[in-house]
Amino acid sequence: METVTIPTHLLPADGRFGCGPSKVRPAQVDMLAALGTTVLGTSHRQAPVRHLVRRVREGIAALLGAPDGYEVVVGNGGSTAFWDAATFSLVRERAQHADFGEFGHKFATATDRAPFLAASDIRAAAAGDLARCTPAEGVDVYAYPHNETSTGVVSPVERVADDGALTVVDATSAAGGVAVDLAQTDVYYFAPQKSFAADGGLWLAVLSPAALARVAEVTASRWVPDFLDLQLAVDNSRQDQTLNTPAIATLVLLAEQVDWLNENGGLGWASGRTAASSAALYGWAEAHPLATPFVAEPAHRSPVVATIDFAETVDAQALAATLRANGIVDVEPYRKLGRNQLRVGTFPAVDPGDVVALTACIDHLLERMG
Ligand SMILES: *Cc1c(COP(=O)(O)O)cnc(C)c1O
Repeated sequence: METVTIPTHLLPADGRFGCGPSKVRPAQVDMLAALGTTVLGTSHRQAPVRHLVRRVREGIAALLGAPDGYEVVVGNGGSTAFWDAATFSLVRERAQHADFGEFGHKFATATDRAPFLAASDIRAAAAGDLARCTPAEGVDVYAYPHNETSTGVVSPVERVADDGALTVVDATSAAGGVAVDLAQTDVYYFAPQKSFAADGGLWLAVLSPAALARVAEVTASRWVPDFLDLQLAVDNSRQDQTLNTPAIATLVLLAEQVDWLNENGGLGWASGRTAASSAALYGWAEAHPLATPFVAEPAHRSPVVATIDFAETVDAQALAATLRANGIVDVEPYRKLGRNQLRVGTFPAVDPGDVVALTACIDHLLERMG
């Protein structure tokens, strides 16, 4: 099996199908090279880099349809850092989490272990299923992933309660690739290395007026390390800066992708493209006797992270290794899920035609298995 060579005419034009870091379009890399001497290696407190940050903030607000009064905030450390920042700067007393995979679980663990907060209210579901938050007494933050990247389950995005509690949504892999109504959220946060086809290391969050007020209240009432102080992040973002030095190359790649999405038709276009790509995979799996979509409920199948289970007679690990040997990379399942599975990132940068080509490549390999 390891020796099978896929005929060139079957191969996708670009073989990057990872779920983060994900495919970066060549045009973004070209722009990075073009801006190399004017932006890279220059101060993040001066106009060229601040213009870049403003371009990102305005582009994100336009792309995601940020309602009046919502602000785009930027900080360093990726979504994992944002979990700790939210634990310190957003939760007043007690958080409730929907936990239906590794990423939702990690944020739930962060608030649950914080000694200054009450134990978290965790609503868990098995891998492949969806858990939802429901209104509960004493909860002031409701947190859930828009898209659980470890399993390929997408959640509806809806405000949980109208009593002043905040709805905080981990959109790390969904933002930019899945439609959303931000009025249903108070915090919609993400990192650039998934649907935004950039590098990791930053977090971005769209905050509602209620979330901005909560940040001011909570950070004034307890000790918060500067790096996790969202008020400092808000203050810096309002000046198109970050608390400490950002990776400027990441900002360039991100700005290029945000502009590309907006120029092509915005979130409607992007979500149509990811829906087409993922539908090609799910449809292929449903029709194939050896494959099946991992997520049983069609409405919960992610448009940006497609997980496909294989029959016991197929060695999915060997399949992924053979694809890798042929230049098709990062379709291994999430490392801790432990399933006989392939996981395919179908973010907006991925060409739907390449996803169709991927299914033809898998067919080619399956036909040649013992
Ligand atoms: C990738 C991912 C994260 C972690 O992002 P980092 O920037 O690597 O910290 C968190 N949540 C979700 C849903 C993700 O897909």
